Amino acid sequence: MKIFRNSVTFNKFYAGVNYLRNALPHACLLCLNPTEHYQQYLCNTCRTDLPYVDYLCLGCAIPLTSNNKLCGNCQQSPPAYHLVTAGAYQTPVKELISALKYRNNQLIAHEVADLLARRITQLLAAQTINKPDFLIAVPLHWKKHYQRGFNQANLIAECLSQKLNIPILDCCQRNRYTKAQVSLTFKQRQHNLNKAFSITKPITGHTIALVDDVYTTGSTLHELASTIIRAKDVDIQFWTIARTQLE
Ligand SMILES: [Zn+2]
Ligand SMILES: [Zn+2]
Repeated sequence: MKIFRNSVTFNKFYAGVNYLRNALPHACLLCLNPTEHYQQYLCNTCRTDLPYVDYLCLGCAIPLTSNNKLCGNCQQSPPAYHLVTAGAYQTPVKELISALKYRNNQLIAHEVADLLARRITQLLAAQTINKPDFLIAVPLHWKKHYQRGFNQANLIAECLSQKLNIPILDCCQRNRYTKAQVSLTFKQRQHNLNKAFSITKPITGHTIALVDDVYTTGSTLHELASTIIRAKDVDIQFWTIARTQLE
């Protein structure tokens, strides 16, 4: 089964399964009741019940009671880049992100990207953040991309691009097959990510949002941001669906 899962044949097979699945009635990812529309993977009740906090700190994503950009801690040591997320990496958003990670399904990506788009639209309307000229999805190493058959950050970026009318810039690649960052110490993480990315095409524009599924330690996003800034001095924002909770 493992060989099958890693093969191109499997990915083609799975794309076919997804095509059929998206054209037939299916169960809500959270409550298993039938969804109202074939194009939806959440029923209306579960979608309405998804957690959404009105204001989050743009440094560490903790909930705020008023429309401030940053919490007290982040005001004292301001972040290098603004972090925009839909909320915390917890049930039920956690389950939706895992569903996306294991199935190459654009309709599931839409369900999670909708939540993040809501936050971004709110921040753009309040002129709290600048509208990026381009989106860049955090790339996977080709080997990982081949094994998984898709990059979930790409799926999310494509949805956000459509919803917010911002083009995607495909300009960087991942050079190293890096180990999972979470299991490493800070020093190991730095070494692991050293020269992890390279720029393959010229970068244009002034403001760029880097898109990923979850913000955990942030080291991957920071490394990609540094690589981009070495190539061109641009303003960078981090856009992720969720942020793992601070300890
Ligand atoms: Zn439901
Ligand atoms: Zn903060």
